[in-house]
Amino acid sequence: MSTAQQNKIAIVTGGGSGIGLAIAGKLVQRQVHTIIVGRDEAKLAAAKAQLGGLCSIYSCDLSQLSAIPNLIADIVAAHGRIDILVNNAGINMKKEFTEVSDEDFERIIRTNLTAVFALSREVVKQMLNNPHGGSIVNISSMASQYGIPKVIAYTASKSAIEGMTRALATELSPKGIRVNCVAPGFIATDMSAKALNNDPERKAKALGRTPMGVLGQPADIGDAVAFLASDAAQYITGVVLPVDGGNSIGF
Ligand code: NAD
Repeated sequence: MSTAQQNKIAIVTGGGSGIGLAIAGKLVQRQVHTIIVGRDEAKLAAAKAQLGGLCSIYSCDLSQLSAIPNLIADIVAAHGRIDILVNNAGINMKKEFTEVSDEDFERIIRTNLTAVFALSREVVKQMLNNPHGGSIVNISSMASQYGIPKVIAYTASKSAIEGMTRALATELSPKGIRVNCVAPGFIATDMSAKALNNDPERKAKALGRTPMGVLGQPADIGDAVAFLASDAAQYITGVVLPVDGGNSIGF
């Protein structure tokens, strides 16, 4: 356990399930007080029951952008400051390109990109008051490492996350805020089950180009995020770290 992370305060969006829950679990293990933000109150309550006293929960639909400033003000009023922000919440949509409506496209972009922008802005305003600075970790995808068909809006959003990570890192690192990104490969969660389980050809293709030959586990992403968020990564900023069993470099 890194004692450097004791007494830190983190927000993990979409922390009620899948990868976000595993990230929250790894932060709590390192004694970080972890605030999970999500939409589903039952899932949030179950996560809190699992993670215990170092976990707090806030219910918020992040696609409602106007709710974000008050959410962050409430969290800072209750907890004093925010040291770590993990922008994990995301949605996917698999559809033929020509079937994607403007509304479909905007819905994905709003949750996966605009909400990340708005939340980061509000959190950074707070982090700038923090003498110890802060750390932001974004979550992208293999969809921004190479081309995957039928996920146009998702790919656009995740590619933008990687560009935004680099732009924010250059602007904020001189002010003590590190910004990094983890690009998960194919990880066993509800989201990947929906995308892969009724499409054996796609699943075989995903695994076929993964040198390690298996899906990753949410905890694999949790470990990488906890590292990037920690003082052990104090000289790392602006990177996109694939955690993918080699999928992004597979033949
Ligand atoms: P998941 O569906 O299990 O979890 C996503 C979480 O985000 C859910 O808890 C959901 O409630 C929350 N969320 C979605 N929209 C929200 C909103 N508007 N407001 C608040 N919360 C919201 O999926 P996951 O697989 O755990 O994905 C987590 C992240 O990892 C996503 O950003 C996803 O794009 C990314 N990712 C996943 C994989 C994979 O293989 N599973 C691969 C690459 C990237």
